[in-house]
Amino acid sequence: MRKDYDLIVVGGGPAGIMAALTVRRFNSDLEIALVEAGQSLGQKLRMTGGGRCNFTNNRPIEEFFDMVVNNKKFLYSSLYSFTNEDLKNLIRKWGLDYSIEEDNDQKVYLKSGKTQDFIRVLEEKLIDAGIDIYYGSRVEDFDLDEEKKSVVFSDHLLTSKQVLFAIGGKSYPKTGSDGKLYGFLGDKGYDIVSPRPGLVPIDIRETWTRPLAGISLHNVLVWTRDRKKNIEIFGDIIFTHKGLGGPAILKMSSYINKNPIDKEIFIDFLPHISRDELYRQVQSDGKKSLTSNLKGILPNNFIKLLLEDVSFELGVDLVGQASANIKKQNIDFLLDRIKQSKFTVKNIGSMETATVTAGGISTKQINPSSMESRIHQGVYFAGEMIDVDALTGGFNLQIAFSTGYMAGMAICENARAKSK
Ligand SMILES: Cc1cc2nc3c(=O)[nH]c(=O)nc-3n(C[C@H](O)[C@H](O)[C@H](O)COP(=O)(O)OP(=O)(O)OC[C@H]3O[C@@H](n4cnc5c(N)ncnc54)[C@H](O)[C@@H]3O)c2cc1C
Repeated sequence: MRKDYDLIVVGGGPAGIMAALTVRRFNSDLEIALVEAGQSLGQKLRMTGGGRCNFTNNRPIEEFFDMVVNNKKFLYSSLYSFTNEDLKNLIRKWGLDYSIEEDNDQKVYLKSGKTQDFIRVLEEKLIDAGIDIYYGSRVEDFDLDEEKKSVVFSDHLLTSKQVLFAIGGKSYPKTGSDGKLYGFLGDKGYDIVSPRPGLVPIDIRETWTRPLAGISLHNVLVWTRDRKKNIEIFGDIIFTHKGLGGPAILKMSSYINKNPIDKEIFIDFLPHISRDELYRQVQSDGKKSLTSNLKGILPNNFIKLLLEDVSFELGVDLVGQASANIKKQNIDFLLDRIKQSKFTVKNIGSMETATVTAGGISTKQINPSSMESRIHQGVYFAGEMIDVDALTGGFNLQIAFSTGYMAGMAICENARAKSK
């Protein structure tokens, strides 16, 4: 089958859907096709926020940029053109509602707690907008060089003067975003910044924490030294069979994923207690053991394993002795292990389980005010496939919606300019 459109959107995730709906909102004439590899739309969206859809964050939009790990400046135009307030308003306009979790990092979730509701509404809006949706249609080839671009999948060939790619990253490939088109785009002259897993657990070389798998610690400080600046993240961690996980660790993984192997990360397990206070605490009752004096401050099994490991390293038994009998230098060594415990990265989680893909189409080849390619006129990009990524908290979905909106607006502008 061969058909001509005014716009072909490749990818039925939040970025592609938002772009298609934005074009329709401001232009009722354009013939639009949305081509989706999966049998349903928004397969990754369905999994977000643990199925509750943490679609944005309630912080002021200026603070979003601090949550962007790569290429924050590229996102100025799109995030300011379509903000978190705009997205929340649109959600309400579409008959959905949201709830703000102030004490959960200001995350904004769908009130119903069901991403399925969101996907149903998006699908209804696309149908109402008269957009042709091609399900189960993985784009396998395209030609972007002519004014009329062509997109090929199964036995279809669609042509259009404008094509938007919103194919997502490479993570969770079972949701449809396998990143295979990156290679083709590379062949057409696009620089692909090597895709890397973001927001993943970290495997560590140290083994003493292994028996703690499943234990969480709240409000710790995780940091690493970077060539340019120190990266510090407060939050919860969880010990895993291979190392470390939990929100603070997932965030840290996004900062070290360019060169993770053997990177050193440090944890202050008690950032709200100064070293002097902690010293007083471990010596609070000289007749008692360190284990007793630390009780209630850290989990018992954590204290036990830490003291065993420190005793092994020092060649001195810290477990059985009264704290008054322990030399100051050995207490100092223990305090270092609580306030600046060093962990060496063995590896980071795989792309299969990454919440987000870092890397993608180079931002240098995309105009940030329109999302239009700097190589091919009439070609646009949106969402996670661009070399931008952010921390957890609803920022990645906001980026997908904002860049989709920005591209949609620019496509309308171009169509208007050409019709004059
Ligand atoms: C488990 C999990 C939880 C997450 N939770 C959150 C969260 O709570 N908050 C948040 O902000 N972010 C979250 N994210 C990240 C967020 O889901 C993504 O950043 C977002 O979905 C990106 O949107 P997108 O439209 O760019 O790409 P995608 O959602 O990946 O959509 C791309 C679409 O393109 C299609 N496609 C790919 N290749 C082709 C092709 N060749 N032909 C046709 N179609 C193609 C795919 O099938 C897919 O439907 C989570 C991610 C995961 C994996």
